[in-house]
Amino acid sequence: MHELAITESVVEAVTERLPDARITCVRLEIGALSGVVADAVRFCFDLVTEGTNLEGARLEVTETAGRCQCRACGGEFEPDGPIPICPCGSVETTVLSGQEFKIASVQCFPGGTTPPDPPEEGA
Ligand SMILES: [Zn+2]
Repeated sequence: MHELAITESVVEAVTERLPDARITCVRLEIGALSGVVADAVRFCFDLVTEGTNLEGARLEVTETAGRCQCRACGGEFEPDGPIPICPCGSVETTVLSGQEFKIASVQCFPGGTTPPDPPEEGA
């Protein structure tokens, strides 16, 4: 399962950068054409973070839309699936965006392993 390895690499990247921080929230940006299934990453996250300083952290995933340009008709379109097909029927397309997979931001309690009460949402 490819999302498990991806989730592991995210957790590794965070623990490497912030080894002493207690992570409370991780935000990911997953492009529609990245081939990564956001739900699968969500599913793996709790398993992978167990026993790390990310344990119990919230995972927020922003799924960004894909954007392609058709090489047959020159039009730009938003693909509605992992395989971009132009409304004109052509699969000869160039991906302009939507292949990104990145850690957008990480929230933590700096330096502490005993977190205070979490702040009220929207306070
Ligand atoms: Zn086209």
